[in-house]
Amino acid sequence: DVVAEKPAAAPAAPKSSITITHPERRLFDDSTMTKGDLAAFYETMAPLILPFAANRPISLVRCPQGRGKHCFFQKHDAGSFGGQVHHVDIKEKDGALEPYLYVDSADGLVACVQMGTIEFHGWGASNGDVEKPDRLVFDLDPDEGLGFAEVKTAAADLKSHLAEIGLVSFALLSGGKGVHVVVPLTPEAEWPAVKDFADRFAQALAQAEPHRFTATMSKAKRKGKIFIDWLRNQRGATAVMPYTVRARSGAPVAVPVTWTELADIDTPAKWHVGDEQALLERASDPSLSGWGIARQVLPDL
Ligand code: ATP
Ligand code: MN
Ligand code: MN
Repeated sequence: DVVAEKPAAAPAAPKSSITITHPERRLFDDSTMTKGDLAAFYETMAPLILPFAANRPISLVRCPQGRGKHCFFQKHDAGSFGGQVHHVDIKEKDGALEPYLYVDSADGLVACVQMGTIEFHGWGASNGDVEKPDRLVFDLDPDEGLGFAEVKTAAADLKSHLAEIGLVSFALLSGGKGVHVVVPLTPEAEWPAVKDFADRFAQALAQAEPHRFTATMSKAKRKGKIFIDWLRNQRGATAVMPYTVRARSGAPVAVPVTWTELADIDTPAKWHVGDEQALLERASDPSLSGWGIARQVLPDL
């Protein structure tokens, strides 16, 4: 690569001990965000991100040449991330142990950015016991053409149905097209039971209101509906972590919101990478400080 490093003029170099090469490199065609900005964003946001993303297997969306150019999803440690990015060995279906990535610090996040990472996705279980999920996610994926109003209503309906069976849930704007309804769990049940619960919950909603919902991945069956993507709740699946920048137009951010706030939000890409200060400020509001936290287990249904 012939782009020269220019530390003096580099934008927003983070305080991290990780060296960011080419901090001036723009990562998005439609945003002035540079690699240095992204590193600074994750460094600043680390205290908000790490409670969710640390110490669990993560997958990275890496776009070493910028968004839209050869992005790929990386699950396993290729050994090139340096000492701040760790690995946890997890048994694959075939019995082989594979090193999954995890981080536990701001430097770990920044080291991933140095390697071209834009997005952080996490397992629904932490390293403490990767077989016992500590959260469920219902990822609401609207068919093209459906408005965000329908998605919001659907999310609120899921929240109510979950509350009816004793489960507290939280809303995450994906930064893309939808909302994730997140249900924290005390890690007790194992993946098969959690997946089965998520499956039955989604199927029940789709059966009750087939004109609004589908629980089948098939795009053909999604016409005019919202796909309740319950498949995030199987062993090995991931969901985007709170405060991750998305490798999508305008560098939007996945943002936790309260149910009250959600009612007045008109796009799941409301906040962008440049809104760091606003995100920090709103996160300190008491209404958000308990986001994603609840001690609860799945009911017997
Ligand atoms: P949107 O609101 O636009 O749907 P999203 O983050 O929910 O955004 P999805 O396409 O619904 O995007 O994907 C849901 C989750 O599935 C992602 O957050 C990610 O963790 C996982 N995922 C997506 N693409 C891949 C992939 N290629 N390989 C592995 N997991 C993926
Ligand atoms: Mn989705
Ligand atoms: Mn999905």
